[in-house]
Amino acid sequence: MESITVVNAVLSENTYIVYDADTLRGFLIDPGSDGRKIEAAAARKGVKIEAALLTHGHFDHALSAAYFQAKGVKIYVSKADADKIEGHSFDMSRFFGREFVTLTADCVFDCDYLNGFDVKAAGGSLNVSDMKNTGKEREFMSVSDGGFLNVAGMKAGVIYTPGHSRGGVCFYFEKEGVLFSGDTLFSDGIGRSDFSDGDFLKLKESITAKLFSLPDETVVRPGHGEATAIGLEKRNKTLFS
Ligand SMILES: [Zn+2]
Repeated sequence: MESITVVNAVLSENTYIVYDADTLRGFLIDPGSDGRKIEAAAARKGVKIEAALLTHGHFDHALSAAYFQAKGVKIYVSKADADKIEGHSFDMSRFFGREFVTLTADCVFDCDYLNGFDVKAAGGSLNVSDMKNTGKEREFMSVSDGGFLNVAGMKAGVIYTPGHSRGGVCFYFEKEGVLFSGDTLFSDGIGRSDFSDGDFLKLKESITAKLFSLPDETVVRPGHGEATAIGLEKRNKTLFS
């Protein structure tokens, strides 16, 4: 597994082009605003993009999802965050005053942490279980925490990390020692938890109980900013302050 980083314009969100150097089959993690730039970066390496995996449904991480979907790229999102890209529910585009065109995901993967979260009380709607509302057939798969999504001939480990958003996940490649952390963990910082479906305690637990149990040398590639390492952030005394 190799990866290329593309920094997009809108909120400096990172898109990662993950690919197999032998087969040149690849997928995106978080298709940010600059679809053409991402496409050009993949083309320079001869990589064919087959899918795009979202770490979560905030608009900045999915701004070119519709662009790629129109070219046959399959869009994967966790069930608890599908409403963000499909119906603007907590997608944060209005908060940031940006346009975001909704789309229907091709593959929704299950998660088990909706328990206890009252969507209506938080001011949102949750209709992803109503598959008919989209008018399009979607593939639905259940991935247990620590399970895998098989994409472009590769296995992407899924670690559920709610807190920044209720459906946030990180993608983990154990053999290569790389974690794509979305907006859960940054270099010298953690994601915001003050949005409507954010939860600081859940975020802290996701990081300390799950991410910090990974090997110290694990390279962390976040949704914004520079890469870091698990060990480095574990020793960061001000991470949660
Ligand atoms: Zn976010």
